[in-house]
Amino acid sequence: MIDNQQIANIIEGDTYIYLNKLAVSVNTRYRHYSFSEIKNGNTLKESLEKIYYKNSYKLSDEVIISEAIYIDNKLNKDGQFKNLDYIKNLKKYNPFINENVFIDLYYVDVNNKQSILNFINKYGLLGSDYKFKSDYYIKNFANPKTLFSGNYMIKPIIEDYSVIKENIKIFKATVNLWHGLKVDNINEKHLNGLLDYLTRDIEENFNYFEEVPANKNVIAKTMIQSVYDEALKPISPILRPSEDGYKAGYTSSTLLGVIYFQLYKIILNQKQLYKCKYCGKLNSPNTKNRSDEYCKPQEGIEGHSKCNNDYNNMIKKYRPIILNNKLDSDSIKELSKNIEWTDYEGNTRRGRPFKEVLQWLKNYTARSEKNKKMLEEYKDDHPNIFK
Ligand SMILES: [Zn+2]
Repeated sequence: MIDNQQIANIIEGDTYIYLNKLAVSVNTRYRHYSFSEIKNGNTLKESLEKIYYKNSYKLSDEVIISEAIYIDNKLNKDGQFKNLDYIKNLKKYNPFINENVFIDLYYVDVNNKQSILNFINKYGLLGSDYKFKSDYYIKNFANPKTLFSGNYMIKPIIEDYSVIKENIKIFKATVNLWHGLKVDNINEKHLNGLLDYLTRDIEENFNYFEEVPANKNVIAKTMIQSVYDEALKPISPILRPSEDGYKAGYTSSTLLGVIYFQLYKIILNQKQLYKCKYCGKLNSPNTKNRSDEYCKPQEGIEGHSKCNNDYNNMIKKYRPIILNNKLDSDSIKELSKNIEWTDYEGNTRRGRPFKEVLQWLKNYTARSEKNKKMLEEYKDDHPNIFK
C-alpha cells in the first residue's frame, strides 16, 4: 500500500501558473478598438485567430481573455511583461500541489458562464485549446520548458469558450466514470456522458462494444483510457534536483493537463474518490493526514472542516431528542425523515437514512453521569435498536 505522504510526493510537479489579472468573456464577432493589436483584421475574431491560433483554426464567437491583455496591455508585443513589478502583483501558484483545483473544476456548472469565470479567475485558464495555438503563442505564453527564476511557468491569456465548455464536460464525465467504477455502479448515464466525444473510437471498436454490451465496466475502462490518450499530452517528465542528486518530476503546458495528471495518479494508485458523509460532495482523496470522510477544511485552516462540524452538530441536535423522549424504532424512523441538513450547493434538505440515525445511538459514548444514566435506561427499554 502506498501511504498518503507517498501520494503527495508523486503528484508533486513544477509549473507555476501566473494569473493575468481578471479573465473576461468577450464576444469576438465585432470590432474591438480597445484591443491594440488589431491591425488588419475586421473583427476581433479574425485578429485573435491571426495572432494566437494556427492558420486553419476557426475561433468560435466567444473567448475568455485576460483583462490585462484585452484592456491594460501590460505585455509588450513579444508577449513579455513590460516591467517586473507587474509580475510581482500577479497571483502565482503551483496547481500540481493544490488539492482543491481538481474538485473545484468538477463542480463548475458548464451552463453557467459566471461559474466558469469564477473558476478561471481563481485558478487560471485551462489551456484546453492549446493544440490549436500558434507557435507564437506557445513560445511566448505557454512554454513551461523555459525555466524562469528557477520555476517552470505559464501565462495563459486566451481560450476559446466553446472548447473550455466541452472539455469541462469531458472531465466531469471521466470523473463520474472513475467514481462509478470504484463503487461498482456504472450506469448508462455515466457512459453516455462520454459517448458523444468518443464517437470515432467507438466506431473503430464497434464489434468490441457489440460483443460486450453487458460488461459496462470494460466499456467504462476503455472510455477512460481513450480520454487519457489525449489528456496527458501537455505533461512532460523533468529532472528535479534533490539533496542527493535528482528525482523524477513533471511539468505541464496547461492547467487541464495538471488536473488530468492528478486524476491519473488517483487511478493508478487505485484510490477512490469519496463522497462527503455530511453534504454528499465528491472529493479527491486526501494527501494530508486526514481520513476520507468529510469535505476538506478550507485552505490554511487546521482542524475539522465545516462539514465535519456540521455533521457533529446534527448528531448533537437530534440524538438528545431521541433519548429524552425515549423514542421507539418507528418514531425514530419518522424523525429521521425530517432531519434537516445542508447539501453542497447550500440547499436545506430533509431526511437522513434510518440506519445512519441508529448508528448515532450505537456509536454514542456518554460522558456525563446524567447522560450515561439516560443512555443506559434507553438501552434497557429498547434493546432491539442496539442489536
Ligand atoms: Zn461536505
